Amino acid sequence: MEGNTHSRDLLRKIKEITLWILDNLSQGRSPLIGIQRFRTYCTDLGSNCNCSSIKPNGHEILTFQKESHVYRIDVLLRVLLIVQQLLQENKHGSKRDIYYMHPSVFSDQSVVDRAINDICILLQCSRHNLNVVSVGNGLVMGWLRFFEGGRKFDCINSPNTAHTIPVLVEEVKDIVSVAQYILVVEKESVFQRLANDQFCSKNRCIVITGRGYPDVPTRRFLRLLVEQLCLPVYCLVDCDPYGFDILATYRFGSMQMAYDAKFLRVPQIQWLGAFPSDSDYYGLPKQCLLPLTTEDKRKTEAMLLRCYLHQEKPDWRLELELILQRGVKFEIEALSVHSLSFLSDVYIPSKIKEGTYICHI
Ligand SMILES: [Zn+2]
Repeated sequence: MEGNTHSRDLLRKIKEITLWILDNLSQGRSPLIGIQRFRTYCTDLGSNCNCSSIKPNGHEILTFQKESHVYRIDVLLRVLLIVQQLLQENKHGSKRDIYYMHPSVFSDQSVVDRAINDICILLQCSRHNLNVVSVGNGLVMGWLRFFEGGRKFDCINSPNTAHTIPVLVEEVKDIVSVAQYILVVEKESVFQRLANDQFCSKNRCIVITGRGYPDVPTRRFLRLLVEQLCLPVYCLVDCDPYGFDILATYRFGSMQMAYDAKFLRVPQIQWLGAFPSDSDYYGLPKQCLLPLTTEDKRKTEAMLLRCYLHQEKPDWRLELELILQRGVKFEIEALSVHSLSFLSDVYIPSKIKEGTYICHI
């Protein structure tokens, strides 16, 4: 849906949609607003689903005859008006800014988020095309230099210094790198550990973190780097269901933004660790292993049913099954039990050198 989606075209579509709704209402008709539904996965393992193909999986019809729909349409039109203003004035706003334009109507941020997703589907565009941006959570460091809107990001000059990932990824230009690979780490604490250990001085790489579940700019930025630099990309997450889900978000995209997964996922990503077997292999003491909670087990069981794991990543699925069988989890930082810089000096370099990661198929 990305590509040459210009503001002018979007403004024209917004005008067409609102005029069409008004026209129907003025003639006493209730317009039926069809919104396509997309998904990144299903749990219907018996069928040949098309979850990865980004074709829609059905659609929803919003009508003025249902009270809950009237509220959704009200929110949708209010957000559409704000988007129209952003586009007309060539300004950017965050989802949070939009929420605060009508906090009493938008009872919750999620209401606004859903309206923004619905608008992207209706207008067939990506969120950034609406001039709606995230606050930006991601960090990057390493052997990289680029420009964003005339601003120079010279990470090479000081490869162990964290830079905020630019929010306007479409304005990132002139990417130069001498890195040999990209390492994505789940947590900021691990990123800081690597920065303190001067990891990028000792290893020619780029390190990125989305600080938990990655936001849209982090995923788009990572994708841009992978496409332009053609480097291998590895992912390091905690050995628990949340770490696995974050890995899956980078690889397959999130369900909320399934309509745009094609532009957000990174199919090349390889899972570097931590694997359940790492606890034995690296001799983690028992006190580093925490029992899975009821919620962890429920989340893991639900993830095991996802169709994309069965179809595309059976090896990842086996490791996830192993977490459930062993009934324990551990954080990446647990590997520091041997020495503070064990991750930087031993774990990551040896995994990359020896290839003891699960390759993408
Ligand atoms: Zn499916």
